[in-house]
Amino acid sequence: MRKTEAMRGFECVGCGRCCQPKWYFQRLQKADIERFAGREDILKYVGDRRKFPVDENQKYITPCPFLKDNRCTIHDIKSDFCANFPISEGVIQGIGCKGILHKDKKIKKA
Ligand code: SF4
Ligand code: SF4
Repeated sequence: MRKTEAMRGFECVGCGRCCQPKWYFQRLQKADIERFAGREDILKYVGDRRKFPVDENQKYITPCPFLKDNRCTIHDIKSDFCANFPISEGVIQGIGCKGILHKDKKIKKA
C-alpha cells in the first residue's frame, strides 16, 4: 500500500463511511492517472481537471461507484488520496471515522 508516514499506524475498520458522502471527492494526481492506464472502467469517471468520480455531466457521484458492500473494489489501484485517507487526525475526528490511529506508528506497517 502507498501510505504516507502519518498514516502508517492507521487501522481502517472498513465501515465505508468515508466513501459515501462528500469527503471522498478528490482531484487525482498525475501518478493516479498513470496507474489507471488501460482501466476504462475507472477512467470513465475521471472528469475535468481530474475530478473524480464524476458522471458524464461532471457531477460528483456519491456514493463512490467503486464501493460495493462497504468495500473498495479498486483497492490495489485506487488513488493516493484514497490510499492515505483519512489523511490526518483532524479528518478522523471531523468525519466520525471509527478507525484506529496507533500512536506508535511502527506497530502497523502498511
Ligand atoms: S475509490 Fe475506493 S476508497 Fe476511494 S472513495 Fe471509492 S470506494 Fe472509497
Ligand atoms: S471512515 Fe475510517 S474506518 Fe471507515 S472506511 Fe473510512 S477510513 Fe476506514
